[in-house]
Amino acid sequence: MGEKKKKIVKSIKIDVDKCNGCRACEVVCSAFHAAPKYSSNNPARSRIRVVHEPLRDVYVPVYAGEYTKAECTGRDKYLIDGKEYDECGFCRASCPSRDLFKEPDSGLPLKCDMCESDPPLSEPMCVQWCLNDALIYEEREEEVDEEEEKRDEVEIGLESLADKFGLDKLMETVARMAKKE
Ligand code: SF4
Ligand code: SF4
Repeated sequence: MGEKKKKIVKSIKIDVDKCNGCRACEVVCSAFHAAPKYSSNNPARSRIRVVHEPLRDVYVPVYAGEYTKAECTGRDKYLIDGKEYDECGFCRASCPSRDLFKEPDSGLPLKCDMCESDPPLSEPMCVQWCLNDALIYEEREEEVDEEEEKRDEVEIGLESLADKFGLDKLMETVARMAKKE
């Protein structure tokens, strides 16, 4: 186990009953994370997606979570108000089974960063833009493992590239890029 340190943990509570499927959250998330910022918007690049299937009477915002290289061996099924929902519908993972939460051009996994920004935002962009108050931002202090903390988006991105192209090919490319620098 690594050293523990205190950290502010951000979370967003979702009030599904208030979501009307306007998708403003998807638009602003993709625009905020575009390079340069606000230069484009494409919900396929958003780190929040509003699930609207299969019965088309409920909207469920789902945040992009951790990348996983293995598909699950089982699938979750959800029963809400007596209705059964899609097996993978509410899963947050970027995984090999589907295109959700993958950057459309590169295929790299997308993960919600609760809008890391300098200067910091008062609230994440999707929360600010959700006029129906379906997204409620919360902060709490928790002890976290420092080693886990170091596993950042770069490492997750490299891991997914290694899975896709093989580690040797990735190392070869990085070495070639380093020579060009
Ligand atoms: S902005 Fe709010 S109401 Fe609109 S789709 Fe997103 S969560 Fe739902
Ligand atoms: S918190 Fe920020 S990064 Fe996460 S889904 Fe909302 S807008 Fe996107």
